[in-house]
Amino acid sequence: MQARQFDRRLPEYFVADNSPLMFETSQIEKSTADLSPSLRADLFGDLIDIRHKVVQGERLDREEGIRLYQSDNLLALGYIANMVRERLNGFRTYFVRNYYLNYTNICELDCKFCSFYRKEGQDGAFLMSLDNILKIVSDDKDNITEMHMVGGLNPALPYDYYIELLRGIKKINSRIHIKAFTAVEIEFFARLYGKTVERILVELKEAGLDAMPGGGAEIFSERVRQKMFADKIGADEWISVIRTAHRIGIPSNATMLYGHMETIEERVDHLIRLRELQDETNGFFAFIPLAYHPHVEDSTQWATGIDNLKSIAVSRLMLDNFPHIKAYWISMGPKVAQITLGFGADDLDGTVRDERVFHMAGASTENALTKRQLVKLIKDAGRIPIERDALYRTIGTFP
Ligand code: SF4
Repeated sequence: MQARQFDRRLPEYFVADNSPLMFETSQIEKSTADLSPSLRADLFGDLIDIRHKVVQGERLDREEGIRLYQSDNLLALGYIANMVRERLNGFRTYFVRNYYLNYTNICELDCKFCSFYRKEGQDGAFLMSLDNILKIVSDDKDNITEMHMVGGLNPALPYDYYIELLRGIKKINSRIHIKAFTAVEIEFFARLYGKTVERILVELKEAGLDAMPGGGAEIFSERVRQKMFADKIGADEWISVIRTAHRIGIPSNATMLYGHMETIEERVDHLIRLRELQDETNGFFAFIPLAYHPHVEDSTQWATGIDNLKSIAVSRLMLDNFPHIKAYWISMGPKVAQITLGFGADDLDGTVRDERVFHMAGASTENALTKRQLVKLIKDAGRIPIERDALYRTIGTFP
């Protein structure tokens, strides 16, 4: 089968990687090309027609996304997702040395699923001073290349806090890439400080904001929003903020919180809306499915290992215009995250020092992984570890 160039119209900041993104026949795809039709039908079962579409490079529709989630043919699903993963990223698996900084958990909202937020004065409430944050940056011994910063919606903070935060980090180390503030925080800043979303984004960018994380949307379902986070912005506003960010040159990730009360149809609708936005802006780096962590231990509302694998695989197949699918090991655990590297994921996130949002929700994973641990996880999965910077430029390879 002939290799074909995949026309992504990638913005400049995506093509910095050493390897061009190619829509090419993957090794794994070649390995089933010569099978007899009956053996292929046995192997792929109810997904045989979807495999055919993927081999042809055709886009999957909503119905097919739902079928992928409903199928019990897990290995066939993983196989098909892996074809796409290897087309786009070969055996490369990325990780980054990063620091997760939650500057405050004081929040004016009280989303039902959130274990992270506190009210002012409540036990466990915290607000980091600028001095504290900047000391973390200047004391860094791990040569982090990315700061990931999100926080609660804290109405007591002045606008200057954010501007000085960004400027201060860049002044200490201009090579650190700052990925900060969800669309929910940006919309909150605009409301609180009486500026447009665009003005806020422009000013934060000028102060040092390089990219935005993908959180805040949870899942684009008005039904779920009404029940779980009714006061938070909905899908249309989230998309509007991200569209503006992409337009003015701030790329972002996108996430989906799954494993709570959402339906499979709502998950697929979420993916399709993201795909449509990416068609329009080309501003997303990676998609990150986030497994929900319930407050109570005996809850049955949590994502199982199978659900984690399916969510990675289905997102790889539905989000055909996203360069990367990230397995967030903090939420699904390093061992399941490692297995997803054969189910469509090509990024294990990073060292993730000091994460609090999932740990306050009961995540039992480590608080950080070392570079050596990440390299071992990736190598044992038969992949090639690539240390990347925030723009997916190669910093080092570990063949
Ligand atoms: S999810 Fe975000 S906005 Fe909602 S309560 Fe938690 S910190 Fe606040």
